[in-house]
Amino acid sequence: MVVPYKHEPFTDFTVEENVKEYKAALDLVKSELGKEYPLIIGGEKVMTEDKTVSENPANRGEVIGYVSKADQELAEKAMQAANKAFESWRKWDPAERANILFRAAAIIRRRKHEFSAWLSYEAGKPWKEADADTAEGIDFLEYYARQMLRLKDGIEINSRPIEHNTFNYIPLGTGITISPWNFAFAIMAGTTVGPVVAGNTILLKPATTTPVVAYKFMEVLMEAGLPAGVVNYIPGSGSVIGDYLVDHPKTRFINFTGSKDVGLRIAQRASVVQEGQIWMKRVIAEMGGKDTIIVDNEADLDLAAEAITYSAFGFSGQKCSACSRAVIHEDVYDVVLEKVVARVKELTVGPTFEDNSNFMGPLNDQAAFDKVMKYIEIGKEEGRLVAGGEGDHSQGYFVKPTVFADVDPEARLMQEEIFGPVVAFAKAKDFDELIKIANNTEYGLTGAVISNNRAHLEQARQDFHVGNLYFNRGCTAAIVGYHPFGGFNMSGTDSKAGGPDYLLHFLQPKTVSETF
Ligand code: NAD
Repeated sequence: MVVPYKHEPFTDFTVEENVKEYKAALDLVKSELGKEYPLIIGGEKVMTEDKTVSENPANRGEVIGYVSKADQELAEKAMQAANKAFESWRKWDPAERANILFRAAAIIRRRKHEFSAWLSYEAGKPWKEADADTAEGIDFLEYYARQMLRLKDGIEINSRPIEHNTFNYIPLGTGITISPWNFAFAIMAGTTVGPVVAGNTILLKPATTTPVVAYKFMEVLMEAGLPAGVVNYIPGSGSVIGDYLVDHPKTRFINFTGSKDVGLRIAQRASVVQEGQIWMKRVIAEMGGKDTIIVDNEADLDLAAEAITYSAFGFSGQKCSACSRAVIHEDVYDVVLEKVVARVKELTVGPTFEDNSNFMGPLNDQAAFDKVMKYIEIGKEEGRLVAGGEGDHSQGYFVKPTVFADVDPEARLMQEEIFGPVVAFAKAKDFDELIKIANNTEYGLTGAVISNNRAHLEQARQDFHVGNLYFNRGCTAAIVGYHPFGGFNMSGTDSKAGGPDYLLHFLQPKTVSETF
């Protein structure tokens, strides 16, 4: 019997011993910076001439690693290796496949701070955020392994005296995992091992700015005994190999997490049947968000301010679940705004790869910095700047936590995903209007309601249209197995990562009926 699932605990960095251990892990990672990394295709390491340079976003020019880049020819080779591996992997006992995930989780747990330290260097994550990212990756391994054990014998259906019927789940084939940089470990790992434990094989294309931590994960999978070709590591340009593999007739499914634009492009291309293709491709696409916290007039206003602040500025607002809209009842608007601004002024911004003193680290890269600064300019036209508004990219891509007040619900700042440390405040006259404004975007990922009014909470349960709705807390920090995660509308296909039916996206049920 496998012990029941429990999420991985978070590290308490007020404990001196933990700080010492994390610092040792940072030193270890520092000593490994600047290495070259190959692709891994069918278990073979392939070093290419052309490389992606992964840099520390908090310390421009510091190279995390030089990572080989797949082109279309190598992507084709990986597709063939994955197709070949599928023929045996699909027949493995699902319990043995699950054991590989359990073993990988154990290896990562032993090296937990090392993985987090890679995230502090490569993704600019503050310690607490990096620790949560690694914990979530471990959780995906533990949780999906158990989900496969639950599904492995299928579901009982009716039989008759002269007939025995079975209903079992079988895998789909070879899929492509395309992952984002913001949860460079957890999402990359989870969207790979979910399909894999279900018996599929994967071509893993991690985000261009965070390929090294994905390579480290590949090392763990190999150490845990994953057979060659089951996961093939092929970082490369999204447009070059991404399009090629999405279009490929042998691609059975695409497991994508990233922006709305890329997700929609993938969905559209995947719907075109190519020559030699004998199935409809499945597209799982978890995309962007424009997430709202609403605050009622009957509410704990300190809790509201705290929830808005950490949901908007944790990891510099670079979470799909980040609060970028705070919609407040007019009776308490000024007080909540004032409390948030007071808290924001206390937040520090700076490097997070040497110590734990800064609350916020850098943005992902120059493009992210430019985009956020552009929205800050737009915000100055659309609202009243009450905190932050400044950026500095001389050493790393740092932007101060920024608050705009009095923004129209239809303004660009309230409608478009900024993906940075910017939150816009809007006012509503009653609870109905709070809900109406919360729902007035094309997205539907997360949201939170701060209210002590039971009837209003129940109204929100029915009418606040988001995949992950939270009451009296912030709108970030979903935990695998506790808060299955995914969004409505343009936030994607609502596949609910870390949920009890996630693996079904990568399985097809087969009915067999035998007459005696
Ligand atoms: P992105 O869309 O720019 O990139 C995501 C991945 O797609 C990367 O690996 C990229 O290389 C690849 N890609 C780019 N062009 C491609 C193409 N033509 N074909 C195939 N792949 C291609 O997103 P990002 O900047 O890495 O991540 C941030 C976005 O991800 C935000 O919009 C955020 O909201 C979203 N996100 C959503 C969730 C969720 O669960 N809903 C979780 C994390 C991030």
